[in-house]
Amino acid sequence: MQLKEQLWELTKERFGCGPDQCDDHQLYEALLLLCSHLAAQRPAPEGERKLYYFSAEFLMGKLLSNNLLALGIYDQVRELLGDMGRELSGIETMEPEPSLGNGGLGRLAACFLDSIAALGLPGDGVGLNYHYGLFKQKFENNKQTELPDPWIEPDSWLMPTGKTFTVPFGGFDLQAVLYDIAIPGAGNKCANRLHLFDVAQPAQEPWIGIRFDKGDIAHNLTSFLYPDDSDEAGQLLRVYQQYFMVSAGAQLILQELEERGYTIDTLADHVVIQINDTHPSMVIPELIRLLVERGMSVNRAIDQVSRTCAYTNHTILAEALEKWPLSFLEKAAPQLVPVIRELDRRVKEAHPDPRVCILDGQNRVHMAHMDIHYGFSVNGVAALHTEILKHSELKPFFDLYPKKFNNKTNGVTFRRWLEACDPRLSALIDDCIGASWRQDAQKLEGLLAFQEDANILQRLLEVKQANKQALCQALFSRQAVEVDPLSVFDVQIKRLHEYKRQQMNALYIIHQYLEIKSGRLPQRPVTVIFGAKAAPAYVMAKHIIHLILCLRQLIERDPQVRPWLNVVMVENYNVTRAEQLIPACDISEQISLASKEASGTGNMKFMANGAVTLGTMDGANVEIAQLVGEENIYTFGASSDRVIGLYQGSEPDGRGYRPLELYHRPNVERLVDFLVSPELLCVGDPACLSALWRDMKTKDWFMALLDVEDYIAVKQRAIEDYGQRLPWARKMLVNIAKSGYFSSDRTIGQYNEDIWHLK
Ligand SMILES: *Cc1c(COP(=O)(O)O)cnc(C)c1O
Repeated sequence: MQLKEQLWELTKERFGCGPDQCDDHQLYEALLLLCSHLAAQRPAPEGERKLYYFSAEFLMGKLLSNNLLALGIYDQVRELLGDMGRELSGIETMEPEPSLGNGGLGRLAACFLDSIAALGLPGDGVGLNYHYGLFKQKFENNKQTELPDPWIEPDSWLMPTGKTFTVPFGGFDLQAVLYDIAIPGAGNKCANRLHLFDVAQPAQEPWIGIRFDKGDIAHNLTSFLYPDDSDEAGQLLRVYQQYFMVSAGAQLILQELEERGYTIDTLADHVVIQINDTHPSMVIPELIRLLVERGMSVNRAIDQVSRTCAYTNHTILAEALEKWPLSFLEKAAPQLVPVIRELDRRVKEAHPDPRVCILDGQNRVHMAHMDIHYGFSVNGVAALHTEILKHSELKPFFDLYPKKFNNKTNGVTFRRWLEACDPRLSALIDDCIGASWRQDAQKLEGLLAFQEDANILQRLLEVKQANKQALCQALFSRQAVEVDPLSVFDVQIKRLHEYKRQQMNALYIIHQYLEIKSGRLPQRPVTVIFGAKAAPAYVMAKHIIHLILCLRQLIERDPQVRPWLNVVMVENYNVTRAEQLIPACDISEQISLASKEASGTGNMKFMANGAVTLGTMDGANVEIAQLVGEENIYTFGASSDRVIGLYQGSEPDGRGYRPLELYHRPNVERLVDFLVSPELLCVGDPACLSALWRDMKTKDWFMALLDVEDYIAVKQRAIEDYGQRLPWARKMLVNIAKSGYFSSDRTIGQYNEDIWHLK
């Protein structure tokens, strides 16, 4: 049947009218059903071995456009709608975004699913079906407030499977109900699945804001992603969530193994599990437990599981490396405790070094240590990150198991982050080098031939200008903010964290403000755009949001400054917002303290869309710099070696980092002191601003004051260079041309080649 007839039949049956009579929401539902139907008919890719990608987060974004593209009916549907005088972009706004992730780690998992399916590899995701996601961010009185973010509607991408598994918690059992989201592969006829487990009786939304009963596990286990874990009830709930996910997931794996006709003693030949950060680490003892329960010896079970599991490390921030008190596990999953004790006993017997133990002296379980001892692969997510793991952070483990360590530099799917989000740029690229880059992003290198082509460079600038214009309209209609489309768009969008140093960008804004106030006008107007959610319990991050919103208000009210400097903070930053912001960006802010950002993936999306990076030599920025060359990136700041040295107190005289001395430099002091100036206190909350001010002077744990002067100088240079339009366009072009390396198709190809061996 033709697509057109299918759509007619669908809407007739459901709404009693043709698609031309449907409103946008009905059309969205009809297209969702059409895609779901087509995807459900696709078989899974074949293979002797199957991957299960375990992750507490899958930040999928809206799925309609992506699924239409993957199913190969995007253009057809767009034309069909066009004939009825409708636009796909309007219909897309009807789709709620599932917020099943925090940021980079969850978005990486989503990009990986897209690439695994596109490469035709047998691999499913395993995660949890959070009903209210992370949270919806609103600004009130220049502060963040949090609301539930419900995304599950009667018609959604979730497909009930009818499968349930019993998860045994201490003192009670819970049923894990399995829902699937189909992941059709672009360019082939297969589809994988994202498996999301849910409780049987999820709570409805009876709360004030995002406060809920963390003790009511049976109803609230899947209510929120990352419950506020600043208290013990929140931490315990996270352990329940993690065990629920891995126990149900492990049971699913063994069930499918049997259905595929294999016995459990061939597990490692037919299954590979990728553990995305430590949240799913309990899959290791759980699988061992289940195998022993099915009659396997402990030795063999440990051997099978160790050859099945591979671990990805995402961070070296100490506070993010999970260490659960054994008492939490005794409560949530007591049957795992003897398994973990046995795993720990074996480690201690073989390696007395206390730095590599699983159970430490305070009876805490080090999840990453368990992964490294009992997995066959440990990977970092960018070259620099992996080197830091090997030679500093995880050195004792690298000494034990050098062969387990490998690097897999992150990537993003160009189908979402270039084709779908930037159709203007995509069309220009097609005109230059043809459409084959859509299958193989490395082909973008062909753009290098146009570096001296003034006509193409001019068109590139026009594309960027049109995208900026579109963003201005979106910002105006959504948040009623006015932005000068001719200003430089300087964009920092990512989770709010001190190590990402939004506070350093705020110091730049203060610098510019003071310059303009004292009559020194900049070369051209700049719009600094932020988007960021702060974890609900992360006090300092919330203070930084407050600072940015206060600066925004102060500047907006100042007719002397406003024409030259504008600050925008996008509310509720998520994947959909990212897709609108990134194509409109001139300068991509990637200014984390060197050594702290494992990779970053935002940096890659910006690069692919022709933004020029302003960044530290951190994470994948290092690889971006190598690819584009120093004339096409703006780097600054202390090196990762120097920063690691400062943390160890080895420099300059063994006393480590001393912010107070940096603060007393004249150019720094006036910036920092502006936090508690009468102007700012007038619009802000004195308690928040002075707490931030004090912290910056005396602690500054992520060393904003170390790099701020260099940062401001290099940023000025970038803004100056922006005025040379054709040379700037050349930088944009080189960035796009070199971005193909950061396709997640390349990353997944390497995971498959080195770790998974699926085909
Ligand atoms: C890509 C992405 C991120 C990760 O951004 P980083 O700059 O790498 O931290 C976070 N959130 C969303 C919505 C994204 O799309």
